[in-house]
Amino acid sequence: MGTCGCSKKQINATQQCPLCKEEAKYIYYLAVRPIVKENLQRLVQKDNYFICRNSQCDVVFFNQDENIIFLTQDINMAADFHEVSKPKSQSCKEGCKGCNSSKG
Ligand SMILES: [Zn+2]
Repeated sequence: MGTCGCSKKQINATQQCPLCKEEAKYIYYLAVRPIVKENLQRLVQKDNYFICRNSQCDVVFFNQDENIIFLTQDINMAADFHEVSKPKSQSCKEGCKGCNSSKG
């Protein structure tokens, strides 16, 4: 009986955003690709990306190894953006006070 030979390769779960220096969270490249604009999708190769969730920061995704940075303007807003949406001030279009209190 020996110790298990598998070596767990640790991916850094967070990195510093190159712009705002906030903590950026790891995101899988396949989650990034459909969100960026079509002409930029070819830049999203197998690799590690990080997502900056600082709403004050223009950086959305970055890959420091490849020196790739996607800014908010590089994001396809028509795509499913909920995964990466920055916490901007939420104001209900209807001006309703409790629109999340009940479904109807
Ligand atoms: Zn940032």
